[in-house]
Amino acid sequence: MAAHHQKLYIGGEWVAPASNKRIEIVGAATEEVIGSTPEGVEADVDRAVAAARKAFDGGWAAATPAERGAALLRFAEAIEKRGAAIAEAVSMQNGMPIVMSEQLESGYTVGLLRYYAALAEQLQVEERRPSPLGSTTVVRREPIGVVGAIVPWNFPVILAMMKIAPALVAGCTMVLKPSPGTVLDSFLVAEAAHEAGLPAGVLSWVPGGRELGAYLVSHPGIDKVAFTGSTAAGRLIAQECGRLLRPVSLELGGKSAAIVLEDADLNAFMQAIPSASMLNNGQTCFSCTRILAPQSRYAEVVEAIAATVSSFPVGDPLDRGTVVGPMASSAHRERVEGYIARGKEEAKLVTGGGRPARERGWFVQPTVFAEVSNSALIAREEIFGPVLSIIPYRDEADAVSIANATEYGLGGTVWSKNGEHALDVARRIVTGTIGVNGYLPDLNAPFGGVKASGLGREMGPEAIGGYQQYKSVYLLG
Ligand code: NAD
Repeated sequence: MAAHHQKLYIGGEWVAPASNKRIEIVGAATEEVIGSTPEGVEADVDRAVAAARKAFDGGWAAATPAERGAALLRFAEAIEKRGAAIAEAVSMQNGMPIVMSEQLESGYTVGLLRYYAALAEQLQVEERRPSPLGSTTVVRREPIGVVGAIVPWNFPVILAMMKIAPALVAGCTMVLKPSPGTVLDSFLVAEAAHEAGLPAGVLSWVPGGRELGAYLVSHPGIDKVAFTGSTAAGRLIAQECGRLLRPVSLELGGKSAAIVLEDADLNAFMQAIPSASMLNNGQTCFSCTRILAPQSRYAEVVEAIAATVSSFPVGDPLDRGTVVGPMASSAHRERVEGYIARGKEEAKLVTGGGRPARERGWFVQPTVFAEVSNSALIAREEIFGPVLSIIPYRDEADAVSIANATEYGLGGTVWSKNGEHALDVARRIVTGTIGVNGYLPDLNAPFGGVKASGLGREMGPEAIGGYQQYKSVYLLG
């Protein structure tokens, strides 16, 4: 049933938007309008930032971490109650297979909030440190202030929560700008925040496009920007934050490599392709879309991947058997198809390459290219669709050098029956995260990228530090 919202959640209440502009959401599989919401404008951002400042100064920053942790637990419970609706909203909007949105957008989100609630219990924000001169210094970790958070459409809930949870534990307040492609889920999360009794203004949502995002980034009331999205937008945001000397964290694009070593268990790798290389129809930042295969096993690897990928059920994201759903938007499908056309010129198509026979929905066939050079465009640029490139390598040194010959550094995997040896190869890859015989981000470990994949880390205890700043108080008498 279509959801049509009339109000925005700003400053702890549902308020009339400042303009009558609307965002219409079209379903990725149905191509029909599945909902609409108000589109935020600058006046809405002003109101949300003012409310966030008031909440920050009015007690949230001064509350104990344990008090903030208790609020996170209530928030987790309220999200859990809405888990099924949140998963469905995400899948209908961006085409994510429902089993995945239940696990990641609902389940993982609740787990993340509970994890940070537990960390809040133990959080030390003040330390007395002896100075070499004999005096004492109090080193404090204070919340940075009001955060402007901007998230993309591919994992709209968990990516927002990866910012919300550590920021709230640190004592910050936040204004979120969801992507116009996936707004409906944010209304459910806002409802949960309200039910959990988060103090007014601690979290507000103002949906809108890139201009509104740019307005939020440079708003004088914002103390830190937390961004997830494309590298191109990240560069513009970093530029603006540089000008303003405003702290910024950036989770950007990727072109990660799966290194299949000579002794890899190919069956294990095939089973992991849906999660490690084609998660969310390939619309995942850390996907290993460059498969590096040894020349000695190249034909075998190509054959196994082609057989596996061509067997994936492509279809309705709400169908529990679907492995690959549609692209999130018509424009995005065109972009992916542009890369597929380019791939046909620069490599050998081994499966897919077209559209599945379906009447509706922005589907593309899961596609595999072999004989790909690492310098080909399809091996260099992030496609963000179900498109894999298999690149041959001579020996391990060559594999490491190809894996590292990219602008990006976000994910990666190494496949081998010898786990210690694979770990040794993983150590040589220039990246923020990498998996051995699988890829599964760990709540308890920092996640993020190097090079053009970003700045700063989310998840793990480290993420809290991204929302704190140090203050040293010298006790001299
Ligand atoms: P996008 O950069 O176009 O948009 C992301 C968000 O930023 C949207 O809310 C958009 O409205 C806003 N935005 C765009 N330009 C802006 C600007 N100049 N100033 C302020 N806000 C702006 O990205 P997208 O197409 O929505 O998402 C896909 C991209 O996100 C991919 O490149 C993907 O790799 C990346 N991503 C990265 C991670 C990560 O953790 N590293 C996770 C998910 C997605």
